[in-house]
Amino acid sequence: MPMQNGSFYSNGLRFSCTECSLCCRFDSGYVFLSEADLERLSAHFGLARAQFIERYCRIVDVGVASRVTLREQTNLDCIFWKGGGCSVYEARPLQCRSFPFWSAHLDSREDWDALEKECPGINVGRLHSRHRIEQWLDSRREEPLFDPRHSTDDQLPRDARPQTEATPQPGTPPQPQATPRNPGR
Ligand code: SF4
Repeated sequence: MPMQNGSFYSNGLRFSCTECSLCCRFDSGYVFLSEADLERLSAHFGLARAQFIERYCRIVDVGVASRVTLREQTNLDCIFWKGGGCSVYEARPLQCRSFPFWSAHLDSREDWDALEKECPGINVGRLHSRHRIEQWLDSRREEPLFDPRHSTDDQLPRDARPQTEATPQPGTPPQPQATPRNPGR
């Protein structure tokens, strides 16, 4: 059962991606990957998981856990933003597919409406039912984020040790803020 106070969206919520690209570009942010995300994206590129992580990801220590997040380009665009859109759209991470129906945005009407400042698609366009919104919440709960620190996966890259914010590796792009990227498409 969802833990959020869903009363304010019992009649659904409106959201349509306006393709403004603000959520995937121009600023830093985490795109954390689940086990299923890693499988899907690795298969998309025909790579072993370790190769995919080495090429497209970095590992960050978020305190209670370590996480695999997508790298960024030097201009802070997501590494998969290419040619005016998401180059892995069909295989994009659950974090991206489930935006904006994240638990952090659905605690209250105020939290939801506050998103309007970041995303012009909030409260406009297509109506998403409460049932569909709760399906997205369930999918995030049922698909936990991958934690390489606690993984016994011998397919991980040898250097897949958590990096703290204080010790960035030489040559890595600027460290993201401790906030998730808000990708809508
Ligand atoms: S939808 Fe996700 S994977 Fe695709 S470009 Fe945006 S942040 Fe990157």
